Amino acid sequence: LRVLGIEGTAWAASAAVYDSETDSTYIESDAYQPESGGIHPREAAEHMHGAIPQVAEAALSHARELAAANGGDGDAAHGADEASDGSGDPPIDAVAFSRGPGLGPCLRIVATAARTLAQTLDVPLVGVNHMVAHLEIGRHTADFSDPVCLNASGANAHLLAYRNGRYRVVGETMDTGVGNAIDKFTRHVGWSHPGGPKVEAAAEDGEYVDLPYVVKGMDFSFSGIMSAAKDAYDDGVPVEDVCHGLQETIFAMLTEVTERALSLTGSDELVLGGGVGQNERLREMLSEMCAARDASFHAPEPRFLRDNAGMIAVLGAKMYAAGDTVPIEESAVDPDFRPDEVPVSWRENAGR
Ligand code: ATP
Repeated sequence: LRVLGIEGTAWAASAAVYDSETDSTYIESDAYQPESGGIHPREAAEHMHGAIPQVAEAALSHARELAAANGGDGDAAHGADEASDGSGDPPIDAVAFSRGPGLGPCLRIVATAARTLAQTLDVPLVGVNHMVAHLEIGRHTADFSDPVCLNASGANAHLLAYRNGRYRVVGETMDTGVGNAIDKFTRHVGWSHPGGPKVEAAAEDGEYVDLPYVVKGMDFSFSGIMSAAKDAYDDGVPVEDVCHGLQETIFAMLTEVTERALSLTGSDELVLGGGVGQNERLREMLSEMCAARDASFHAPEPRFLRDNAGMIAVLGAKMYAAGDTVPIEESAVDPDFRPDEVPVSWRENAGR
């Protein structure tokens, strides 16, 4: 089984091929880099328009090589009888794409590309929830049986746990996503996007400064801490110290709610998802918390944490195998697509 995945919810124009026989994932990405400020939706959409054809072609040519290495096609299970290049060697079984959540103008371009490819190659279309894909790639690479997932990404921050056929949101940010909050501070300081890696580097040379810590039950908020961090910087507190305080405070908040989610669900497995998951200090705090309560902790490799089409292809393959495809006429995108709207069709035993 081979599935082409296409991702383009915000900044990463990405295409991938997941090959279930070898359990290998090939990813080709082209990142949008704003000239100034944060992500501008129109510019990001223009980036998708220019970059998706190239990354999709690179992924497809990899799929063709895999098909050829398997002795050419001749295998009816591999989609259409005739590939668009006329080689008679159809490379993929399905096209999966990020249906949301994300920036509407970007999502629409990616969906158009996915529909076109599915029709051209005469294979089914699979509509994937981007946040469930962030979670599922962790499950896929760790083979956990009933984990809690902390999705710490740019535009989101939430905890998911499986219950009765869906991944439920058991806690989440009450305002901005965690990465976007960090990026807002770095924009104020005048650093280029993305800010997360720069804060991580600067924090190493900083001392702790006190910043507002806001956790309410299972939910949390970043707006107060961001204003306080900007004020501290404007008042002359060294930027390294503000970065250090930011990381310690934000990641302690995330670690506290994650521990509570493990405790409330009774799970002893944690997977991390999202681009902020590349941060070593966050991973260190989560892994110490898990070790203290004898829970297993898994963070996928960085190429699967930041936005990438690999996770879309991997979940797309599971959904396709479960018959969870979408007719073209029902494949509208959803910029506010929540993970708990998705029936988990692809796992017989997904947990409780
Ligand atoms: P979503 O997945 O919610 O749509 P997104 O599209 O913005 O979010 P991701 O790729 O998951 O994308 O995450 C990008 C975010 O990760 C950016 O805000 C960036 O600053 C942050 N980030 C990247 N590396 C690090 C790091 N080392 N430390 C902290 N944050 C980081």
